[in-house]
Amino acid sequence: MTFSMTPGSLRLLLAVLLFCTYAQASEPAAITVFDERVRVSPGQLMLLEDEDGALSYQQAVAAWQNGRFAAAQADNLNLGITASAYWARLQIDNPTPTSRRLILSHDYAPTDDVRLYTGPGPDNIRVAGDSAILPDSSKRSRVAAFELELPPESSQVVYLRVATESNLNIELSLWPPVQYQQHEQLISLFYGVLFGGVAVTVLYLLFAAQLAREPNALLLAAYLTSYGLYLAFLNGFPSLWLPGALLAYMNILHIASLGLLFGFGALFYRRYLQLAAKHIWADRFVALLQWLGFAVILYGVLPYSIIGAILLLVTGIGPLFTIGFAFYLWYRREPHASVFALGWTIAHLGSLLGTLRVAGVLPNTDLILHLPALGCAIAFACFTWSIAHRLSVERVYAYTDFLTGLANRRLLSTQGEMEYDRARRYGHPLSVVLLDVDHFKTVNDTWGHAFGDRVLRRLAEHCQNESRTSDLVIRLGGEEFAILLVETPIAEARKIAERVRRVQMSEKLEGREITVSLGISELLPDDRGIEDLLRRADAAMYRAKEAGRNRVELQMEGDGAH
Ligand code: GH3
Ligand code: MG
Ligand code: MG
Repeated sequence: MTFSMTPGSLRLLLAVLLFCTYAQASEPAAITVFDERVRVSPGQLMLLEDEDGALSYQQAVAAWQNGRFAAAQADNLNLGITASAYWARLQIDNPTPTSRRLILSHDYAPTDDVRLYTGPGPDNIRVAGDSAILPDSSKRSRVAAFELELPPESSQVVYLRVATESNLNIELSLWPPVQYQQHEQLISLFYGVLFGGVAVTVLYLLFAAQLAREPNALLLAAYLTSYGLYLAFLNGFPSLWLPGALLAYMNILHIASLGLLFGFGALFYRRYLQLAAKHIWADRFVALLQWLGFAVILYGVLPYSIIGAILLLVTGIGPLFTIGFAFYLWYRREPHASVFALGWTIAHLGSLLGTLRVAGVLPNTDLILHLPALGCAIAFACFTWSIAHRLSVERVYAYTDFLTGLANRRLLSTQGEMEYDRARRYGHPLSVVLLDVDHFKTVNDTWGHAFGDRVLRRLAEHCQNESRTSDLVIRLGGEEFAILLVETPIAEARKIAERVRRVQMSEKLEGREITVSLGISELLPDDRGIEDLLRRADAAMYRAKEAGRNRVELQMEGDGAH
């Protein structure tokens, strides 16, 4: 039985839609030796399905002679999840007068078992693929690859038998050995950079999760790790370093990492967009996709048919629904929805292009082959940016007073000390105005707390309007405010304080006169920090209260003594 998986399921659909027909040629063209990489094309490849995988080499040759091989339909054949083995027959000619060495590679890395038959007898069989246990890791390669030696003016027929536990793709290339090495180096470089980026980002996210107590960062780290694992398995890197005994499980691990990717992706989506709190039905649906995704980890335990059906559902409906819903939430201006709408669109566009490549619509180039990886990388950059942005916004909130939007006391202790140090070092003036609303308890009691809040918001505006942008207006708490006036001597500060007092008194919010008392201090040679200025301003402010309120008082000798 054959079941397609992602992007196989889409490939299958597209193949139907695009009327990809079997090539009609019954006699394949021979491949002639060359100086560049050659992808084995449909006209050069004949295939035989071996349903129970029991055919011997001799039986396969007999089947060829009886005309039971069919021409391949595309140069990268996706045969879905299948228990069948496939036999491929190739003819390679060397008409040159010199002997030629070539590498025959099977480019779809997650393949269990690839055998090359150059003739009858055990000496002519070579085995590669994930389940070919090669304890000597220096002889291993990312994809199944065989060296062929073609004598001068010769023609060689080879049979290739391919079987795998999961998605079976047949993609063959012939290479001059040097080109093969160069290509492998380029691929290693590309994925080296990609995996390096993934590792650094995961570390950043883990730190963010721990230090900023941001559980979404932890989820994104898990999602990104599964993505890194999936790409590693998809491109065969673990076969270079996994212990020999584990090589046979490469396919299971590959599909399991895909399950993790779907599961964590859906979970991150739900949590990050807070679906459970706002869109319960969407949350339930994505939760279903999430658990179906995680169920794919049971690959090897569950029957192929169930896994195939799950993958079809998750990969077919999953992206459509989640991206569509993200666009809807974005339209409703919900936070972070744009990241999913754009990021996931880019990621899935990469996969779609890859699918079109397999369907024969787009050329079969390495760029398009590895584009999905690039698309995912861009999407993850978007997510990580979003988390960093969110943390920076929270940082701003930590220094902001919620009611008035002014800076809070915490910012005063950092920025205030900085301004203090600067004024001290350069011998510049620095003043502090402290103000407190008069009889604010009565204001609250008489006209209500909500009116009191309006008074505070309005007063905050007056303080900002009357000072310069380089000054720092702070709500110290309750109905107490401070203005840190940089480069300002006390006489100048007094004018500003008077303006605030007058504006506040004359405003008559809702017809009610509400006044403030203000105290002012300036930097003195014996001061040890911004707290000394605040203490003197506070003492001056209390003198203003005692003297009858609604007035400005300056610091005096003896104010705020330690
Ligand atoms: P005084 O002229 O001596 O300053 O008298 P007062 O009533 O203003 O004195 P006090 O500092 O004791 O009163 C402060 C009041 O401010 C008490 C509290 O209910 C009120 N308050 C503190 N924070 C807020 C707030 O965020 N909103 C409102 N509406 N009231 C607040
Ligand atoms: Mg007061
Ligand atoms: Mg007070």
